[in-house]
Amino acid sequence: MTIDRSQGRVARDGVEAAADVVTFTGNRGLQLEEKLIFEQGEAGRCGVDLPAAPKHTAKLGGLARKGGVGLPGLAEPQVVRHYTRLSQKNYGIDSGFFPLGSCTMKHNPRLNERMARLPGFGDIHPLQPVSTVQGALELIDTLAHWLKTLTGMPAVAMSPAAGAHGELCGMVAIKAALEARGEGHRTRVLVPESAHGTNPATAAVIGFTVDPIPATEAGRVDLAAFKAKLGPDVAAIMLTNPNTCGLFEGDIREIADAIHEAGGYFYCDGANFNAIVGRVRPGDLGVDCMHINLHKTFSTPHGGGGPGSGPVVLSERLAAYAPLPWTILKDGKFQVLEQAEGEAKAAFGRLKAFHGQMGMFVRALAYMLSHGADGLWQVSGDAVLNANYILASLKDVMTAPFEGPCMHEALFDDRFLEGTGVSTLDFAKALIDEGYHPMTMYFPLVVHGALLVEPTETEDKQTLDLFIGTLRSLAERAKAGAAEEFHAAPRLTPRRRLDETLAARKPVLRWKRAGDNAMAAE
Ligand SMILES: *Cc1c(COP(=O)(O)O)cnc(C)c1O
Repeated sequence: MTIDRSQGRVARDGVEAAADVVTFTGNRGLQLEEKLIFEQGEAGRCGVDLPAAPKHTAKLGGLARKGGVGLPGLAEPQVVRHYTRLSQKNYGIDSGFFPLGSCTMKHNPRLNERMARLPGFGDIHPLQPVSTVQGALELIDTLAHWLKTLTGMPAVAMSPAAGAHGELCGMVAIKAALEARGEGHRTRVLVPESAHGTNPATAAVIGFTVDPIPATEAGRVDLAAFKAKLGPDVAAIMLTNPNTCGLFEGDIREIADAIHEAGGYFYCDGANFNAIVGRVRPGDLGVDCMHINLHKTFSTPHGGGGPGSGPVVLSERLAAYAPLPWTILKDGKFQVLEQAEGEAKAAFGRLKAFHGQMGMFVRALAYMLSHGADGLWQVSGDAVLNANYILASLKDVMTAPFEGPCMHEALFDDRFLEGTGVSTLDFAKALIDEGYHPMTMYFPLVVHGALLVEPTETEDKQTLDLFIGTLRSLAERAKAGAAEEFHAAPRLTPRRRLDETLAARKPVLRWKRAGDNAMAAE
């Protein structure tokens, strides 16, 4: 494939040929077809020589397994290749630009990784005597201090395991505070239409009813509509700032005052804190609680379901309800309060078995300390600058739904695709052929056919220019009538268009050996 960037378009002949190639192996160049490990091995084969097991008396009685375990037998090189190839199938922030809006796919500095592996942090256990982990507790306390300082809030719960888990923490704290006030009848939660799906889901899962607030033409909360919804049954508002359209909610102080006057709490979704860190303190805006996604603002890795961390800062009004355990400093020693008694008597319970994700705490603190106050101030500035560079560079070929500059993410709608026969989905799929993970699509819901691009602060101008050039070229090709090409995308991947609905609704998560259910891999 040849790319003629001076004209901003891709020479199509090479692409057509590559898409149609059929190979004997099913491989595409060095992209290899990968069977499941159970389909590759032979039962009974072993990669190493093991001595025969010594004689022993079985103590399991009738519970001992009678058949084989069904593990695949492979040679060591087969195992190494299998897992290496699987690891290469994962497109991550280390393989290329990852413009996923809302998710903030930041570079994970290697310094953080080194710090997290220090034995004093990496090799400890949460059940160790507290006297042997004073350093680790001090690290948690120091990170807590900086989270409170950066947000201007008096308290923080460290144990939540992700943003959505933090939302649960904050909303349960609000519920506990309402009940303590004898106002458990407040069950309505106001959620702007542009909110991340986790906000209404969190409210609903703990028994609140969700009442949506419409957005204005300018992509912000409709202040009048919000005020009209206030009443004696309102528990809280869940608001993101900057919001998921990448815009700052200018009326936020007025919103905070109004919800407080009406007797409710202000939950701020802090997933977009990376746009304002070092510049705006949510505590000054009247926020009662806010989760902080360490994997977004403070560069810890997004685990594929692995350890996440979403500490929640709390206002004076909610601090007493923070979940256990609490780490406190008494007489120069760190202690861990595990029971809802003494100063922690109003704690609403636990969210996790232990203290939270130690490895993520170490990484987040390493990020903060290596940047310093001036560095964090620059981080949010660069994130906003990069997003605006993308927005301004593409405004003439793509369409932006809202006037003016954005915060940390650039939002486009699908008006520029009108009449081309190309949908937002087609457009995003075509990006895969260009070697990019697609941007966020069809979110936020308030914008038709949304394309949300978040570059983050770590991308250099060269990377941004190549990405901008790619989007320009795709937009021009769509307008030039290349709809069929887009419908067929991605064409250069081992798998093309998947039935994503079927995959989500009926996921096949378990492999069974043909004709042998008893040997299923469980
Ligand atoms: C990412 C995100 C969340 C959820 O955070 P997780 O850590 O993925 O659970 C919530 N709200 C917004 C606005 C987000 O961007």
